Amino acid sequence: TEVKSTMANGRILVFGRLRPVAKKEREAGSKCCVRIVNKRDIYLTEFANENDYLRLKRLRGRHFTFDASFPDSTTQQEVYSKTTAGLVEAVLQGRNGSVFCYGATGAGKTFTMLGTMDNPGVMVLAIKDLFSKIRLRSFEGNHTVHLSYLEVYNETVRDLLAPGRPLVLREDKQGIVAAGLTQYRAYSTDEVMALLQQGNLNRTTEPTRANETSSRSHAILQVVVEYQVKGASGNVVNRVGKLSLIDLAGSERAIATDQRTLRSLEGANINRSLLALSSCINALVEGKKHIPYRNSKLTQLLKDSLGGACNTVMIANISPSSLSFGETQNTLHWADRAKEI
Ligand code: ADP
Ligand code: MG
Repeated sequence: TEVKSTMANGRILVFGRLRPVAKKEREAGSKCCVRIVNKRDIYLTEFANENDYLRLKRLRGRHFTFDASFPDSTTQQEVYSKTTAGLVEAVLQGRNGSVFCYGATGAGKTFTMLGTMDNPGVMVLAIKDLFSKIRLRSFEGNHTVHLSYLEVYNETVRDLLAPGRPLVLREDKQGIVAAGLTQYRAYSTDEVMALLQQGNLNRTTEPTRANETSSRSHAILQVVVEYQVKGASGNVVNRVGKLSLIDLAGSERAIATDQRTLRSLEGANINRSLLALSSCINALVEGKKHIPYRNSKLTQLLKDSLGGACNTVMIANISPSSLSFGETQNTLHWADRAKEI
């Protein structure tokens, strides 16, 4: 397919996903300001509020084109198949890849990545697909699958499968690793959804709003597949492929409130990981030799999963509501930039 051939070029694939209107938004009388055409083109339509006439003029006809854009009726399976299935195939050939969900808080990142029990998201569907593909090719050798699930919050790394003290990043022969991080040996998909949901509950919550997952936390699921193949001379060769699935912190913190949050340490730190990610992506876009991975915990952890020979997928999550117009525009701009890698 077209998607697979672009992936072979090592370019980043960028997708847009629109979520349905929320009850709250409808009750607040918000209008829909996003239109998806031809399964690729996203139009940010006119601002419904007449009082905002100047803004309306300036923003009229905003148009973005991605590798695919998913309307609000798109199923989780369809999102998985179009965005991530190719990466799972690549991981089984010993290549690394990563999938990012980017967007404002409430735009649908966690729904896309984790989903619900009834509607599992990309993380769960990827693991399910991985196991079924492994079963089909098990004659090629033994495969072992390890999962780790961690959080970067305020430049602190925590194990979501075994909450406790912050983890230290160390550089070893395999690259940068979080020392002591749980490597969960997975044998089937059945246990994975429950495991990840539990892990998600361990994400840091806002001190002021208990029970609500912090919009400042990045969650990273890493799936490592190890297997043996027979080399040309009959010797056994070990291969490793790694897939990183990332539910990023809310993008509104990095862009809309940059000036205001800069003074607070927490704000600055959350910016650090998101800004470092943008810097790395910019450096990759510009074909720079030096990519500043060292600037944040997030980019250190993703050093071997971003750029180079890796497959990278970005899913820009957006709300249809005119109440989120500015955030949606920011998200789409950022995604548009990433497209150039
Ligand atoms: P984020 O993680 O970006 O802050 P969530 O994924 O938590 O946002 O989504 C906010 C709300 O919208 C949740 O209640 C979620 O279940 C719902 N939602 C998001 N995307 C979809 C979708 N594609 N279909 C149905 N509900 C969705
Ligand atoms: Mg979330």
